[in-house]
Amino acid sequence: MRARTAVLLAATVPVTLAVATAALKAGHWQLYADRHRIELLPRPRRHCPDCHGRGGWWAAGPNPEMEACGCWADRRELRIRLVPVRDPWPDEPPF
Ligand SMILES: [Zn+2]
Repeated sequence: MRARTAVLLAATVPVTLAVATAALKAGHWQLYADRHRIELLPRPRRHCPDCHGRGGWWAAGPNPEMEACGCWADRRELRIRLVPVRDPWPDEPPF
């Protein structure tokens, strides 16, 4: 899994340079990339016995809430910062 992730990221970097924003869904992960960050977010498993790929369900009760399924909510997400987001209105001039 770790090697596969590295290959996926290595393949993504040239795409990031060519396109401003890219989103890709691959297997159980969703890849999002723009010039500020690369994110690898867990997605629900299509054959999950609990949520059947929907990612969660509505909990019954007086205040219905969407409950996240553990097939994606318990997995880590990966975030790599690239170009820092600049303040569009800096306090001081840049010279
Ligand atoms: Zn699930």
